[in-house]
Amino acid sequence: MSLKGLLIDLDGSIYKGNTSLHYSREFIEFLRKVNIKFLFLTNNSTQLPMDYVNKLRNMDIETKEEEILTSGIATAIYLSSLKNVGNAYVIGEEALKKAIISVNWKVLEDADYVDAVVVGLDRSFNFEKLRKANYLIRNGAKFIATNPDKTFPMENRIDPGAGSLVAAVSAASEKKPIVIGKPSPYIGKIALSKLGLKSHEVGIVGDRLDTDILFGKRLKIKTFLVLTGISKREDMEKSKIKPDFVFENLEEMTMFLKGYLENKS
Ligand SMILES: [Mg+2]
Repeated sequence: MSLKGLLIDLDGSIYKGNTSLHYSREFIEFLRKVNIKFLFLTNNSTQLPMDYVNKLRNMDIETKEEEILTSGIATAIYLSSLKNVGNAYVIGEEALKKAIISVNWKVLEDADYVDAVVVGLDRSFNFEKLRKANYLIRNGAKFIATNPDKTFPMENRIDPGAGSLVAAVSAASEKKPIVIGKPSPYIGKIALSKLGLKSHEVGIVGDRLDTDILFGKRLKIKTFLVLTGISKREDMEKSKIKPDFVFENLEEMTMFLKGYLENKS
């Protein structure tokens, strides 16, 4: 193993809701001290990197915007790789539209033709938006989904996620989307190029076998499961997706990395 960088999931790995998890601040400080590069990855397209910088700052974790990659930002980078300048119809919230505009694409409300229909979480989704997206995809627009998550867990209930809206558009248009967020390799390739590292030099830290660890396997990077979120030890025994390393929490992972670095030198 030659570990030079980590992709790090946020919810369930660094914090739960608005509360930081055990040792997450120390873990990030340790990575900085030993020069392991990192990038936080989140499938949430309704927030901008700045929002995460602020959220993490409230937990005493200091980060920069460049250290955060949301599915919205990754989608914008993907669009700009298709075409320098283009037009999109967006089912999504302000943060996603801002990300797309920031790469010189136009977000159009009423058009007969666009290059891409982008679907992310939109908490004011309605029939009219579904009708427009369907019309534009049937008229030749590429169908792009920020992330596949059908649900997302709130403090005391389960809400529909972007994937539920993507499913509606997919049913109407009879087309499958290009998915950008985890576990798709698209966001992974963008993340590796942001880190400037190759897959064998990178690992993923996450709390979900079916997204984070599966994503790591697809990207051929090392996988580190932390048992502080969704997946439990029992799930791991039942699952076909096996992480390379499993830790109770980030303190245990920090101890492991210390040992690894000492052995290497
Ligand atoms: Mg998570």
